[in-house]
Amino acid sequence: MSAVRTVRAPRGTTLSCRGWQQEAALRMLMNNLDPEVAENPDQLIVYGGTGKAARNWEAFERIVETLKVLRDDETLLVQSGKPVAVFETHEKAPRVLIANSLLVPKWATWEHFWELEGKGLIMFGQMTAGSWIYIGSQGIIQGTYETLAAVARQHFGGSLEGRVVLTGGLGGMGGAQPLAITMNGGVGLIIEVDERRIRRRVEMGYCDRWTADLDEALAWVEEARRRKEPLSVALLGNCAEVEPELVRRGWIPDVVTDQTSAHDPLGGYVPAGLTVAEAERLRSSDPEEYVRRSMASMAAHCEAMVAFQKAGAVVFDYGNNLRGQAKAAGFAEAFSYPGFVPAYIRPLFEEGKGPFRWVALSGDPEDIYKTDRVILEEFGRENEGLARWLRLAGEKIPFQGLPARICWLGYGERDRAGLLFNHMVKKGELKAPIVIGRDHLDAGSVASPYRETEGMKDGSDAIADWPILNALLNTAAGASWVSVHHGGGVGIGYSIHAGQVVVADGSENAEWRLAHVLRTDPGMGVVRHADAGYERAQHVARERGIKMPALGI
Ligand code: NAD
Repeated sequence: MSAVRTVRAPRGTTLSCRGWQQEAALRMLMNNLDPEVAENPDQLIVYGGTGKAARNWEAFERIVETLKVLRDDETLLVQSGKPVAVFETHEKAPRVLIANSLLVPKWATWEHFWELEGKGLIMFGQMTAGSWIYIGSQGIIQGTYETLAAVARQHFGGSLEGRVVLTGGLGGMGGAQPLAITMNGGVGLIIEVDERRIRRRVEMGYCDRWTADLDEALAWVEEARRRKEPLSVALLGNCAEVEPELVRRGWIPDVVTDQTSAHDPLGGYVPAGLTVAEAERLRSSDPEEYVRRSMASMAAHCEAMVAFQKAGAVVFDYGNNLRGQAKAAGFAEAFSYPGFVPAYIRPLFEEGKGPFRWVALSGDPEDIYKTDRVILEEFGRENEGLARWLRLAGEKIPFQGLPARICWLGYGERDRAGLLFNHMVKKGELKAPIVIGRDHLDAGSVASPYRETEGMKDGSDAIADWPILNALLNTAAGASWVSVHHGGGVGIGYSIHAGQVVVADGSENAEWRLAHVLRTDPGMGVVRHADAGYERAQHVARERGIKMPALGI
């Protein structure tokens, strides 16, 4: 295996590949591993526990070499982070097709996955790590901001002013929480076991201050609650110790959730009583004991969250499968509180709304500011929430790696945005092409019964035909690269999901791709929900002309 290196995507308009579609894949793979972006680039880990961009450094090198010579009528196949083949296809086909972490259902356990991973045969791709469209914590900030805004609307008259949100985890995704809380006017207390992660979020300007002293943290939080001032406080500690202690003290926050990497009991969650260094040692010396302790800690953590709920707090699961793990560890009441999708996000999914994101391949922030202005003009008047988000994001969100932006757009909006960007590139208003993608957490691209598809109206939570159809359709529609993954968000055995990325390089080929993919992709979200009996989705399908023969639409 070759040595560890520092990776940073090329900027500007000089191509290292034969075309922008390939160049975009190359830069986005590299950008995922940029130290500003990735949580642990030395291990090729981008975010979400052990979510990786390539199987190992040798595979990374081979992918880079292959992308550099890949023709406009060829398609590279990547199997769990390893470039396994190149086939001749055609100019409108995807340039890369990716499958990560997929196991036949009966074998789909972490234990079997780790065995295969140990043999070097498979890689955990999370969602946007192995599909090369992670954009740092900003990617999750807007979703977290929207979710908390929905919490505020449903429970607190529209604002989190004077409300305390207690949560855990300041990693790749969880790091967005403090900023999303303060952007909603609230006070955040975020427990994180790893001091490095805390320092990183404070340095990035995502989190206001930190301490290792619980009393000091509570004093700061209470003061801000009284003054109704936004403030985020990180507390160095373990959720499985601190949260039961808060319950014992009778200290009740207004809102409780969690973003520790509970989906992974070995590579992610840190059991009570261990420092990060001790956890690392136990992980390699006695993995079975580690998992046993980890599961027991998750049960204690979840039990404290249920106790907060009983004491009147608004509690919801934030998509890390803490409830599933706690239940498996014997805590029968784990599912007492809902997941965030049925509680707050599903109405958006019904309209095909989801996390549309784009990246400036020039590396110039000005390109993103220009696209911000165009999106504001095009959609801001009819969508005040989106306008507020774009203004705040421009002010408060530092870029990590290549400059990027995210906002939630629905069916009929995403293709408008994509074609506008392509036009800007064509006219030379932007310095280089724009990459457009999304999280796999989207309206029609995931089957995940403890998260995106929890509590579907028709009981179809675990049916994974939909993300597969989504990937097949986006391939037919000409996405630049398409991926199908297993286990993202909630862990092995719990989810199957798909991603797509499409490049606006100003060409006619790109215009064709964008016009198709940015309709088929959110269209699947509308269709998924309309088929499951959601009336708003059926109305959207009818109103916007999506054909659904089985429903007579
Ligand atoms: P990450 O691995 O980058 O970070 C997890 C953090 O939790 C780490 O900093 C770790 O030190 C900390 N941690 C672990 N155990 C702890 C404990 N017992 N007490 C306190 N801190 C602890 O993961 P991430 O990318 O931030 O993702 C977090 C979780 O959220 C994952 O399970 C992920 O799958 C899930 N997720 C949710 C969404 C969503 O939209 N809600 C999206 C993606 C991922």
